[in-house]
Amino acid sequence: MSYQIEQRDEQLRGTTARIMYDLHFDRASQHLVRVVMTVSDVTGATVTAVMPAWTPGSYKVRDYAGYQGNVEAFTVRGGVKTEAPFRWRDKSSVEITTNGADVVELHYVVYGFERTVRTNHINRNHAFLVPTATMMYVEGRMQEIHHVVLHHDQHAWPAVSTQLSEVVPPSERGVVLGALNYDILADSPLEIGNHLVRTFDVQGARHELAVASSQPVDIDWLAEQIRVIVNTEAAIFGSVPYDRYVFILQCYPNSYGGLEHARSSVNAVDPQALLETSKAKGLLALLCHEYFHLWNVKRIRPVELGPFDYTKENYTPMLWLAEGVTSYYDDLLSYRCGFLTQDEYLNTLSSEHLTRLMLVPGRFRMSTRDSSFLSWVKLYLQSPDGNNRFPSYYLKGGVVTMLLDLYIIDHTDGRTSLDDGLRGLWERYLQDPSRGLTEDECIAILERSTGVQLRDRLMQWLNGTTELPYAELFEPLGLKLLVEAETAPAITFGENRSFASVPAIRFTGLTVAESSGKVLVKGVLDGSPGQRAGIGIDDELVALDGTRVTGTKQMDQILAAAGDREVLVTAQCDGVVYSTTMSTAPVMKARLQKMDTMTSRQQQLFDRWLRRP
Ligand SMILES: [Zn+2]
Repeated sequence: MSYQIEQRDEQLRGTTARIMYDLHFDRASQHLVRVVMTVSDVTGATVTAVMPAWTPGSYKVRDYAGYQGNVEAFTVRGGVKTEAPFRWRDKSSVEITTNGADVVELHYVVYGFERTVRTNHINRNHAFLVPTATMMYVEGRMQEIHHVVLHHDQHAWPAVSTQLSEVVPPSERGVVLGALNYDILADSPLEIGNHLVRTFDVQGARHELAVASSQPVDIDWLAEQIRVIVNTEAAIFGSVPYDRYVFILQCYPNSYGGLEHARSSVNAVDPQALLETSKAKGLLALLCHEYFHLWNVKRIRPVELGPFDYTKENYTPMLWLAEGVTSYYDDLLSYRCGFLTQDEYLNTLSSEHLTRLMLVPGRFRMSTRDSSFLSWVKLYLQSPDGNNRFPSYYLKGGVVTMLLDLYIIDHTDGRTSLDDGLRGLWERYLQDPSRGLTEDECIAILERSTGVQLRDRLMQWLNGTTELPYAELFEPLGLKLLVEAETAPAITFGENRSFASVPAIRFTGLTVAESSGKVLVKGVLDGSPGQRAGIGIDDELVALDGTRVTGTKQMDQILAAAGDREVLVTAQCDGVVYSTTMSTAPVMKARLQKMDTMTSRQQQLFDRWLRRP
């Protein structure tokens, strides 16, 4: 089966298609899109149309057919349209009897009102469409050109942002867009509405930034940062492999996440992201991450991830490559872009990668490769005690990637780094874009292009459940990893007079949340003070040392004041009150830092690691 993800806009101009989707938005206020799917040049007694069960990049079976309204089928023969019999073959596919007609039409509505980067969201203000959740494919005809015709009020919704290519200029007939095949269509989300758009050229390609936000956004500032991201990432691979790329940014409360595509990415952040420096840095790292995926996972990809089976799980142990490598690079690229200073980058590695991984007991229970393989029922169906069961392949995969980069730099005296490995993988993609990588081939290419035998070490880290050998890998670059108790920040007032000493926050291993004056337990880490005290998920913490607890901040203060002393906990499980005692521990943090004195080799390798292009 051939697989093609590359498309240039000029390839679709003026084309015709025998598979078309007319999308109507007259019921947008009820969160519905009306789909008329027309299949022409039909041969054979039946046509089978299938709604995908999942969307690539988000490894969860979502059964999009569940959002689809009743299907009506018609055939057209000699210009006469008649209702056609059909049967459901399974939960997601319908088989239509053609009765010798050469055109088949399917009519259905799709309900979309879930605001994520991988689900439809339609209302009176806009439509964000995920093609796998909206457009069925025709079995046996996925390789053909597909057209999408948008029928919306072009005055109310003047902007359409998508990697799909324009077939003809917009007219009364609607906005006609096309894809060379269904895989490209499936990969092409659409934002339709009155969002802000900026276009600019960089690296010889057209870029669009589309921002859907109900709050004011400094889009020109953002476009300026994206220009830097494009140049910095293109510097690794030599150039950009597309004629046009679309950054879709959606701002809505409490969101953070993204989804990668071949010529676009969808990024979702809280509107606060552009008002606070620390959150803005998170947004820039997210943009770096999703954009990096256009190389790593959309093109350089595990053999299981393209071509896809859209009807069921596509298992791969290689999400360490897809997401682990990308997680390491997103912050590294933020640093290379100049969004982080060197100290800020080391702090980010310490707090967001090393400390977070230290708090995952599941890293001793499941390997990163297995966590990848089982992502469909682990990371994407996270149970509240997930952290005790497995490590995320993003988090541990990212730390493993950092160690791999340091290992390569050390073993070549700085002549190569993981960047060279990526370039090797990229050259392999250019030689044969239709075929993904087996793990074996991927590692062979990394070895060849960096000149380092790394297979055994890498597989040990990816298959292992013991602690990673940090000290051994950090030392050659003059780095040391300290795990130390967090101390209370010194507080001063007036002219540097020290404030009454405020004790440091304590570690319980409990994740807690406040709900109408109650403190509820949402997670309990294995081996932690909370677990030893016998506290369970969903229990309510009622009182500490006899004082009623009404909020998490107050709880932290009581525990901080108690310090090492045992605390009497009054809690409630399922309506039954119980008492227990808990001895909390200091909060431990991983801190990666430069050694005070470095040899010249250490300094040279460290500088090599963090050199900016
Ligand atoms: Zn990712």
